[in-house]
Parts: sequence; C-alpha cells; structure tokens
Amino acid sequence: MRKFRCGCGGEIYFDSDNCLSCGSKVCYNPKNNDFERVAKELFASRESDNSGGNPELCTNGKLYGVCNWERDPSSEEGLCFACGFNRVIPNLTKPANIERWRVMEVAKKRLIYTLIGLQIPCISGLRSKKFGFLFDFLEDKRTNKCIDQDFIATGYADGVITINLLEADPVTRVEQKEAANEAYRTVLGHMRHESGHHYWHLLKYSKKIWDEFESLFGAEEVPYEVALKRYYSEGPNPDWGANFISPYASMHPLEDWAETWAHYLHINDSLETAESFGILSTRSSDLAEKIKVWAKLSIGLNELNRGMGVPDNYPFVINPAVTKKLMFVDRAIKMFRLVY
Ligand SMILES: [Zn+2]
Ligand SMILES: [Zn+2]
Ligand SMILES: [Zn+2]
Repeated sequence: MRKFRCGCGGEIYFDSDNCLSCGSKVCYNPKNNDFERVAKELFASRESDNSGGNPELCTNGKLYGVCNWERDPSSEEGLCFACGFNRVIPNLTKPANIERWRVMEVAKKRLIYTLIGLQIPCISGLRSKKFGFLFDFLEDKRTNKCIDQDFIATGYADGVITINLLEADPVTRVEQKEAANEAYRTVLGHMRHESGHHYWHLLKYSKKIWDEFESLFGAEEVPYEVALKRYYSEGPNPDWGANFISPYASMHPLEDWAETWAHYLHINDSLETAESFGILSTRSSDLAEKIKVWAKLSIGLNELNRGMGVPDNYPFVINPAVTKKLMFVDRAIKMFRLVY
C-alpha cells in the first residue's frame, strides 16, 4: 500500500474518508491511484448533483458509511469501481450488518487495490461473465433465523467469491480459527485466497503455463470433494511443512495454488507498504530478492508483535518448495498481463 497525502500535506490512510490534518472530506480514485478532496455537500448528499464534475463519494459511502472510493461516472447507481463487484450485500435493516459490511468493504478495497497494481484483469462479473468476478456477502442461520442454511462456507464458485458475513465478527473469527487449527485467519486473507481460485481459471488459456502448474502443484489425485472430506477427517499431510505454505494448502492442488497466490499478494502489498513508510529503502522488482527481504522483514515484524504481546504478523515459513511456487505465480501474472 502506498502512502497518500492530502493537498494540505497531511497524511491520508487508505481506509479513511477524511484528512486528519485539515478535516477535508476525501475519496480514493482508483484511476489516479490517489485521494481527491470532495466538497462537503457532495460527500453527504443522497442525490447526485455533480454538474461541475467534482469528485463525488460512492453511494455506499454516502448512505451507509461503508465506502471511501470515488463514484464511477459510468455507474447508474452512483457506485465506485470496487462496489461494482458486489452481487449480494447484507440485509441492512439490521444495524450490526452495516458494520460487518464495512469490514468486508475495507478488505475488498485492499484486494482490488493490489490486483489493479499488478496490472492483471480486474473486472466485475457484471461487466464480463468470462473474465470477471463478484462478491456475495451472506448470512446463515447463526445471524438470521429466516435463513435455512445452518452454515454458509466462505468460498469461490463460478466467478463468485462468497464470504460469510460473520467472518467480520472478531469473536466468531477467532472461534473458527481455533476450530480449524489455523495460524492466520482474516477477512483480507480470505479474499486474497478466494481471488486466487478466480485467477486460476485464466491459467488454462496457456498450455505451457498449465503444464508447469501440474508439474509444481501436482495433478488431482482424488476428486476435490474427497480430498476435502479426507482433510477434515484425517488432518493435513504430515509433511506439509516441507512442501506447502500452510496445512490447508496440502489438501488439494487448487488450495495449494490459492494459498500460494494469497501469499504472493501478502508479500507484494507488505513490501510496498514497508517501502512507502521508509522501513525499506528500495523495493526490488525481482521476486527471489523480494522473498529474501520479506523473510527477514517478517521475522522482525513478528518480534515487534511479540514485544507487544500480540500474535505474530506473519506466522509462516517460506520453504524452497513454496519459493518455486511463488515464482510460478509471478510468471502466471506476467502471462495474464500479456494475454488479457
Ligand atoms: Zn488535508
Ligand atoms: Zn463504493
Ligand atoms: Zn480455497
């Protein structure tokens, strides 16, 4: 994440909608990758009256305070580019759902920021069924008794990333993390992982990349559903630490890819932030070098967290097998840029 500044020189954080120094209302413009000042009346107005062409906040920001991006002029609903990826939003008659949705939007914006920065196709499924993707933010019986399903899993299918709205709730998320024996569980982590499943579909358009995928991640030995059942009954591959980034990655080649993809995004975004905030002097464009720098930096970050009594920032070890898979993700991303 880069550092942003207001016209007054004050710092603006990616998740915020105002400048802490001068109090100006601001919104993020993904085309310029920068924040712009918004007139106060345009910031709060429910009706769009923007004949002067000034930047205007997304409708989801104006009405619910869940978005700080600029309205996309082509959106009839007055939504921003990123809110144009929403297929199902939560039931907003329940006040708790507005805060849960806000947590979802914060993570989604960071994902989309990174995907745009990687210069790969980042297209709403409403615009392209073939190359686009969408989000469903869903409840199950735990938060809404009118819903039949006891549990809706976070996942990806047919161009749609489904996130269970309860993942926004810190207590439930920690319970799920403990139940699944995970080292890391965040809404942003879910989104990065699930986006990997979407981009995997683009691999099949290059035979060379596809063959390489199978040689690194392995061919499917048993059908996905069988592998999933086996993972939850028998646990992960006992040797997962030597070949995978996480126990879950050892479940199936598709999950290995999605986990590796998510780490590629974690590493790139974290190094960009470290450079913008002066923690690193320069950022190499070479992935092998980036992984080396990240390995060192993440150990320091973990120690800083331990010094504050909070969990490790990056509770993972990048082993040589994972390095090879990350290099493959890097090549696949370069291919996406050329082909799409
Ligand atoms: Zn300012
Ligand atoms: Zn928006
Ligand atoms: Zn997955």
